[in-house]
Amino acid sequence: MADSFADPDTEFALARSGTPVDVDGHKVHAPTGEVICLGCWHAGSNVDEIEHAPDCDQQDVHSEWWRETHDGAE
Ligand SMILES: [Zn+2]
Repeated sequence: MADSFADPDTEFALARSGTPVDVDGHKVHAPTGEVICLGCWHAGSNVDEIEHAPDCDQQDVHSEWWRETHDGAE
């Protein structure tokens, strides 16, 4: 069974801006709102939107919200 995003053994990071606010709208080191998968380093606007690499072992990880709205498959 797939792991939940809230599971402590899943690995994600919150992206932080590396550029000044006038470049991308975020201050340096301010969270951009994107989530990065530490398994494949792909990012998404949230954990459910990440397009993981085919061999990423976290590609089945989703938020509790996603699980509740996609219930029935399990
Ligand atoms: Zn991944």
